[in-house]
Amino acid sequence: RAKQAGRGTARRFEPFMDQELRMRRSLEHDMRQAIAKDQLVLHYQPLVQLHSGEVVGVEALVRWNHPERGLVPPNHFIPLAEDTGLILSIGEWVLRTACQQAAQWPGLVVAVNLSPVQFKSRDLVETVSQILRETGLPPGRLELEITESVLLHDSAAALAVLERLKAAGVRIAMDDFGTGYSSLGYLNSFPFDKIKIDQSFIRDLDAEKSNAIVRSVVSLGQSLKMITTAEGVETVGQAEFLRQVGCEQVQGYLYSRPLPAEQLAPLLLGWVQGSASAA
Ligand code: C2E
Ligand code: MG
Ligand code: MG
Ligand code: MG
Repeated sequence: RAKQAGRGTARRFEPFMDQELRMRRSLEHDMRQAIAKDQLVLHYQPLVQLHSGEVVGVEALVRWNHPERGLVPPNHFIPLAEDTGLILSIGEWVLRTACQQAAQWPGLVVAVNLSPVQFKSRDLVETVSQILRETGLPPGRLELEITESVLLHDSAAALAVLERLKAAGVRIAMDDFGTGYSSLGYLNSFPFDKIKIDQSFIRDLDAEKSNAIVRSVVSLGQSLKMITTAEGVETVGQAEFLRQVGCEQVQGYLYSRPLPAEQLAPLLLGWVQGSASAA
């Protein structure tokens, strides 16, 4: 790309590119050891049933506890992990760790994000089944979150994978709905259990357009018998609007930030007891 931009431009950007490349290489080098050195951690964020306030599940979100850089957020290393193929072993670690953890939290669903690279790997279904057997987590308590991009290129192959996962008893959620191509045909043709409305629409609920989009996605979800979850709920006003339009589940800082298992566990206990005694 630098060459196409013309010689002058290429020369001007070289030192910068060099630095970026070196940064990538060093991150990549460190990442190869992250699993072996036990540097990956999962934080869990509650999924809350809006009408009862009950926690029905958690989303597992990976972080990298880097010895020099501190806690690195997923957006800073997942793309590189995808480019290098390391996402396959990271993703498997995430699945196994999340399922092991969820098996300790009776009744809760655990949602795990799948990279498109994992989704396209030939042994995904076998890996998932193997981890479920190994951890003893009932398949219905695992929810796999995928984004629209995996459906884009070879939708026949994607459908086959989703159907095999469904046959294994796993739940499927469409993540970040509304940010990609958002073809309504996808919702019709693929066996989703849940639509997660992207947080950008929730943040922007005061704007008429976002408001209308959220309303219609919720009603679409209802008609298609899919659960709708709103991501990034931060205010009581947002939650109230979502309750009025009939959104089933919410997730966001209003309820809890993603937390390490040991910090979330006491909260979960309180929430479950709280809703049980209210019933
Ligand atoms: P996502 O799956 O859409 O996850 C939701 C993101 O929104 C999380 O960011 C979460 O911390 C953040 N969030 C939750 N509630 C709020 C809120 O009220 N306000 C705001 N501003 N943000 C909120 P996080 O943990 O940084 O993850 C970012 C993305 O990285 C995820 O988006 C997901 O696409 C990806 N990711 C995370 N863990 C994994 C993983 O294990 N595997 C793969 N392939 N991707 C992952
Ligand atoms: Mg997600
Ligand atoms: Mg999302
Ligand atoms: Mg996202």
